[in-house]
Amino acid sequence: MSATIIDGKAIAADLRARVKAEVARLSAAHALIPGIAVVLVGNDAASEVYVRAKARQVVETGMRSFDHRLPEATGEDELLALIGRLNADPAVHGILVQLPLPAQIDAQKVIGAIDPAKDVDGFHPLNAGRLARGLPGLVPCTPLGCVILAKTVRPSLVGLDALVIGRSNIVGKPLAQLLIAASATVTVAHSKTRDLPVLARSKDLLFAAMGRPELIKGDWIKPGATVIDVGINRVVGDDGKSRIVGDVAFAEACAVAGAITPVPGGVGPMTIACLLMNTLRAACAARGLPAPAI
Ligand code: NAP
Repeated sequence: MSATIIDGKAIAADLRARVKAEVARLSAAHALIPGIAVVLVGNDAASEVYVRAKARQVVETGMRSFDHRLPEATGEDELLALIGRLNADPAVHGILVQLPLPAQIDAQKVIGAIDPAKDVDGFHPLNAGRLARGLPGLVPCTPLGCVILAKTVRPSLVGLDALVIGRSNIVGKPLAQLLIAASATVTVAHSKTRDLPVLARSKDLLFAAMGRPELIKGDWIKPGATVIDVGINRVVGDDGKSRIVGDVAFAEACAVAGAITPVPGGVGPMTIACLLMNTLRAACAARGLPAPAI
């Protein structure tokens, strides 16, 4: 058996195109241009790459991008004051504070200060609570992307057995909530879980979000299962060159799974596409317009 490769790059490009069309329609019909403020504190190299990619895609979609670069030594009060100004700015519909933040800043305090209506990362406790309650709200982008990708090969997740490996607030937990909402039967595993390979082998859907390079082997996977690999791990190969791998041993998994996302080119591109979708939704809600049907 050779698994269907779920092409996250193409699926994300399609989603961005639909967001772009909707942005053009909103601009023409309502003079509404969605805007997102991205706040980066310090010089974390990975964050800078990510923020640049976000800004480029925001502009390509026809939205406004407001970039705020603050020095590493920025104090918590200064950052909270900026969040306050962005909360009050009607041109800003989404606020994203790039994590991690320097040690002197309490990230939970900062996330909690963002207006939940502009919380396009979906990390505010109010949005997390809404998701847990099954109420509408802004949903974290990576889990949202995972579910969209899974549904490209399994349009209905009803009754399927799903395993989410990882219980972080930004991936594992919200992903489990989304899968429960889609009526899958969900197990959440973490570093203390016993017999993970045995547990994994019975699941129709496997979501790997551990940050452990290629830990999941082919014989952990139920034949025909759908595997969504969230992991992004930099490893150095035998040739001394560094490359990015996921949490799943891809070649082995391909021989067993029914469908699988590659790394890179799977979940990664969906995260920014879902951020654009969330910003569009936030802008519509701010104007009292119905949520876009995309
Ligand atoms: P995290 O906060 O470090 O959480 C990792 C989770 O995996 C924890 O719940 C941990 O368990 C669990 N875990 C670690 N080792 C394990 C093991 N051997 N067996 C079972 N569970 C294990 O990481 P995260 O922020 O959720 O990110 C997870 C991965 O996704 C990382 O590689 C990250 O780079 C990637 N990521 C990708 C995207 C994207 O856009 N594609 C976005 C976000 C994150 P405990 O809770 O017990 O410690």
